[in-house]
Amino acid sequence: MDSKPRSAQLNHPSPRQTLSYLRNLFDERGIRPKNKLGQNFLIDLNLIDLLVRSAELDRSDFVLEIGCGTGSLTTRLAEQAGLVLGVEVDAAFFALAQEMVQGRDNVVLLHADVLRNKNELNPTVLAKVDELWRQGRCARMKLVSNLPYAVATPVIANFLLTDLPLERMTVTVQWEIAERLMAAPGTKDYGALAVLVQSLADVRLIRKLPPSVFWPKPEVASAMVFIRPVPAKRERVGQPKRLRHFLRALYAHRRKNLRGVLASLYASRLSKEEVDRQLAELGIDGSVRAEDLTIEQHLRLCQAFAPPEEESASSPDTSDSSTFE
Ligand code: SAM
Repeated sequence: MDSKPRSAQLNHPSPRQTLSYLRNLFDERGIRPKNKLGQNFLIDLNLIDLLVRSAELDRSDFVLEIGCGTGSLTTRLAEQAGLVLGVEVDAAFFALAQEMVQGRDNVVLLHADVLRNKNELNPTVLAKVDELWRQGRCARMKLVSNLPYAVATPVIANFLLTDLPLERMTVTVQWEIAERLMAAPGTKDYGALAVLVQSLADVRLIRKLPPSVFWPKPEVASAMVFIRPVPAKRERVGQPKRLRHFLRALYAHRRKNLRGVLASLYASRLSKEEVDRQLAELGIDGSVRAEDLTIEQHLRLCQAFAPPEEESASSPDTSDSSTFE
């Protein structure tokens, strides 16, 4: 593959996404950033560089960008990657991004919501990813995004649960989400999200980001994180969706001890004595809470107690679905 696609040489370089650049652009177009869509733009050029650098892109990379906003990060990515798919839900920003990438033959933009719901990616997005990947232009797939706050967790979790060969994700998320992604057993942030993500991938903090590096300035700090899916971990998990379902059920009753949670979740097929017997066989103390267990203990519990994937869609019933949101 050429080190520089022909069209890129004809294109304008990526604009410097500074505060004054954005203010002028938005004034000109009559755009007001929407808080509910997480429209907080990264205006620190060094940090935009760091995000792109951490992705370690070359022309063999197929990059997914979720929430391309003005298209300036999209353009930066396209300058280095083989192919970029940008997904943007907001019509005004989709139009802006389209203008920005005009003439680049290695960028495809999709006007769509990345999610169908909190549990599922939008099938249209997945079909487009599949179609582009099958063209065989690239050897690796990476996700690089300044993720919208409201959907960052389901985007990360749902992409990890797909069979897509994602080599890494380098993303910005709310600091509180980064803490939940990286949390260790027994700490206050440890829960279903940490267990799911760390069961499938290695997670590392790249940099904590103060609110001032975004515009409009959010109320909370953010973080740039690196998530690398590990094939051996995935093999150990077996059925990732079964694990997600199990964790969601387990953490819907965070206050109860393990024995109590399992006994009520599986009351229709296991007596309390059977729950105790299985816990004893696993060498796990039923009087502790799930949040005190290691990742490996969660995996052993899931294998022993959770029904296979086909059944897990309907049982057990859990009303609280906030664990991965
Ligand atoms: N990439 C740009 C940057 O780095 O400055 C913009 C990032 S901004 C934090 C998040 C973008 O995601 C916004 O443009 C927003 O409209 C878009 N967005 C929000 N929710 C989305 C969704 N469910 N699907 C696709 N895009 C979404």
